[in-house]
Amino acid sequence: MPNQVETKTKSIEKNVKDIRHYINGQFVDSHRNEWFDNYNPFTNKKINRVASGDEKEIDAAVQSARNAFRGKWGSLKLKDRLAYIYRIADLIDEYIDEIAPLESYDTGLPVSQTKKMVARAAHNFRFYAEMVSSRLVGDAYQVDNEFLNYTIHKPVGIAGLITPWNAPFMLETWKIAPALATGNTVVLKPAEWSPLTANRLAEIIDKAELPDGVFNVVHGYGEQAGASLVAHPDVELISFTGETTTGSEIMKNGADSLKQFSMELGGKSPIIVFDDADVDRALDACTWGIFSFNGERCTANSRLYIHESIADSFVERLKERVLNIVVGDPMKEETQVGPLIHSNHYHNVKNYLKKAEEEGCEVFSGNVPTEMSSGNFIPPTIMLNANTEMTVVQEEIFGPVLAVMTFKEEEEVIKLANNVRYGLAGYVWTKDIQRGHRVAQAVDSGMLWVNSQNVRDLRTPFGGSKHSGIGREGGHYAFEFYTEVQIIHVALGDHHIPQFGK
Ligand code: NAD
Repeated sequence: MPNQVETKTKSIEKNVKDIRHYINGQFVDSHRNEWFDNYNPFTNKKINRVASGDEKEIDAAVQSARNAFRGKWGSLKLKDRLAYIYRIADLIDEYIDEIAPLESYDTGLPVSQTKKMVARAAHNFRFYAEMVSSRLVGDAYQVDNEFLNYTIHKPVGIAGLITPWNAPFMLETWKIAPALATGNTVVLKPAEWSPLTANRLAEIIDKAELPDGVFNVVHGYGEQAGASLVAHPDVELISFTGETTTGSEIMKNGADSLKQFSMELGGKSPIIVFDDADVDRALDACTWGIFSFNGERCTANSRLYIHESIADSFVERLKERVLNIVVGDPMKEETQVGPLIHSNHYHNVKNYLKKAEEEGCEVFSGNVPTEMSSGNFIPPTIMLNANTEMTVVQEEIFGPVLAVMTFKEEEEVIKLANNVRYGLAGYVWTKDIQRGHRVAQAVDSGMLWVNSQNVRDLRTPFGGSKHSGIGREGGHYAFEFYTEVQIIHVALGDHHIPQFGK
């Protein structure tokens, strides 16, 4: 008798169809009829085929987005536009029990975690509907009784959104929600390794009956579909989340058409634990921060700096956790770490572990049950005796792998924490309130948590410094990117006008 999880997986397998683009309110094949295969990370068996688009599909999607922007969508009253946004949120909530397992099936992320991601996706839409109705306001500048100058926010036009595979549904909605709520139309290019829920989102948006062309999805390879979107002269802005090198390539390719860019890039974030920290909570946060989402998390605390006086006991407890973490089938509720997204990524992470040993680390790993051998499993791993010069400390590994280092002094650890090219997130654990603020402010990162795991407040700016990103999304910060501010100067009286040639 198959158990509940097997039944659910079989039902997904049976129902998953080949995936097509969503352009102008229709699901369509590529004009060349080209496809690529999509694989399950737990079995490495083929799931389905995905339509592979190029500049033709991008052009069709951009045209339809342009027509929608100039047509019905652009002339809707705010209340009516936001009603669509709330409808999308309600539909996501309605299908959460279907979307979360689908995401786990496609990505290997444990289902207990994808459920939260999908709930957050619905929240993204509600949050931005509320933000737009309450915070999308202009400023007025009065100049005595001579002028009243005021600003208004206009949608920019067509938003090109390019997303990664690591938390696909949540990250896509994190861009789509503010883009649509502020009145833009959208062309989404999802990651090739995680297309299933992007397609489900298109079905949901179709069901919400947004006017044709407001939301489009073109699947395909980054270098083909993605690059065509970036180069398209009618796309005004590109919001990109992905690797730093891809971000830099995209900025070069978009330069000719003077695009606006928002760049959410890679990270190698430090967690600093002082000797006066609440060690139990720091341990929980450190373990969760690196091993949740299979370690494929941009804000993961992948470098631990532990004060030398508490290092031995902390590392012993960390080892225990590593051995106890439940590695297994992502479709099971009890699983804490699932398989990595793709066999290519699995081999990349494996190579980093080999490199860690070559560089002199003691590599300590948890266990993968033997029956999981066909999946892309990397067990939770810590790299002991690491140091700043090592490749495995400098480069983003993007797997369940933590580099462990010790420190003595505050100044020393700040230097160590800042000695990487990334600056996305940081975590500081201490009970000394002054030191907490001091170190937090000294760490080069866009986001910093003190005595906390990565708890997001959607009103706050999200983004990285250094090679981790350009610009901020989140809260009203997203308005700076998704809207054009226009200043209007109105003369109230007869100000002086020079009378040349009179
Ligand atoms: P990636 O850069 O390989 O791909 C991201 C997207 O870009 C995909 O859709 C891909 O098809 C597309 N792409 C690739 N080449 C392109 C090109 N030349 N032109 C246009 N599009 C192109 O990243 P990934 O491997 O999918 O994701 C993992 C990376 O994402 C990690 O570095 C991670 O840190 C980062 N990330 C950052 C954040 C953040 O908020 N800072 C969040 C999640 C993930």
